[in-house]
Amino acid sequence: MNLHEYQGKEILASFGVQIQRGLVAQTPEEAVAAAKQLTEETGTSWFVIKAQIHAGGRGKGGGVKLAKNLEEVASIASQIIGMDLITPQTPPEGKPVHQVLIAEDVYYPGASEPDEYYISVLLNRASGRTMIMYSTEGGMDIETVAEETPHLIFTEEIDPATGLLPFQARRIAFNLGLSGNAFKEMTRFVTSLYKAYVNSDSSLFEINPVLKTSDDKILAVDAKVSIDDNALFRHKDYEAMRDLREENPVEVEARAVGLNYVDLDGNVGCMVNGAGLAMATMDLIKQAGGEPANFLDVGGTADAARVETAFRLILKDPNVKAILVNIFGGIVRCDRVAQGIVDAYKNMGDAIQVPIIVRLQGTNADIAKDLIDNSGLEVHSAVEFQEAADKVQEVLL
Ligand code: GDP
Ligand code: MN
Repeated sequence: MNLHEYQGKEILASFGVQIQRGLVAQTPEEAVAAAKQLTEETGTSWFVIKAQIHAGGRGKGGGVKLAKNLEEVASIASQIIGMDLITPQTPPEGKPVHQVLIAEDVYYPGASEPDEYYISVLLNRASGRTMIMYSTEGGMDIETVAEETPHLIFTEEIDPATGLLPFQARRIAFNLGLSGNAFKEMTRFVTSLYKAYVNSDSSLFEINPVLKTSDDKILAVDAKVSIDDNALFRHKDYEAMRDLREENPVEVEARAVGLNYVDLDGNVGCMVNGAGLAMATMDLIKQAGGEPANFLDVGGTADAARVETAFRLILKDPNVKAILVNIFGGIVRCDRVAQGIVDAYKNMGDAIQVPIIVRLQGTNADIAKDLIDNSGLEVHSAVEFQEAADKVQEVLL
């Protein structure tokens, strides 16, 4: 689950990570009130107004602007709220901005060129360990840094048994070229950042930029935070931060009914039980010359009601030209699944306008095949994997 910058910063701050302070606002009036409150709390008289959308590169797209007084706060906020913000990370038409973060200006005027760093915490899948990736080249696109100056990106791997050790925190501060008080501040910063990452069950922290202020404070100016969905059950407060407006509507609907659905770009819808079989089915579709339109794991039960819900979700995608159902009947018998498919199909009437290929394998597969073949519906049955692939190919031609 991805979070907005202001929510990510809230989580960081709750673990003692130093952040650029700010308050979220939905209207220009709220923005002005937020700015006044920030002046009281921090003494700042300049503010940055930052669009809150689930995409980076907002600065480049005009979604981050400096305001030097309350009039400018009001006018910039009214400009940004409601705009469709286009950045390198949004769809071409942009994303609507519903709220802005009013933050204290931490790039003090007149000070020397600020030092911006890049720090992320993430899982290294190759070693199965958490790592901190960091660079002196903050404020820039990290992909560009990786391409052009890979030697300026460092990593620090962390042993889960010991956590981040003090010498590792010092090495990070050293490699970032820091000394004196800023060095100490940075070791504190990365230590609390790591603690926040582990305790919030996050799968990604990306802080770009981390800022060294002219008075040697180290602050998170931006925060991209993703929480591991599988850990949300123990973080009800984070779950409440979910912004459904930022998510794919069909995926939201699927989650509500307990289906594991991921929207993809292709033309063959798939309905499968088990994530591993779903992955194999997607390969199968590709091999047959199609492209999967989705990943859908219906889980253990495949009765008529569930099959119907799954069909309806898949058919919301206008690109779907065929549906491949690939179910292994172990505990749930194939003939029951077949009956579910036939009942769902009949129940849905003309809602189904595309051919359906059904491959059922496992207990009572032969009875299931007869059931499908004798149903009189436009459902093609298959028993073997290859047979299913061939039938997909046939209907796509
Ligand atoms: P992103 O473009 O979506 O990654 O948004 P960021 O939060 O990283 O902000 C983009 C840029 O805005 C930063 O790289 C900074 O250069 C600038 N910025 C952020 N906060 C401040 C601030 O307090 N004062 C000034 N002057 N610039 C800021
Ligand atoms: Mn950023």
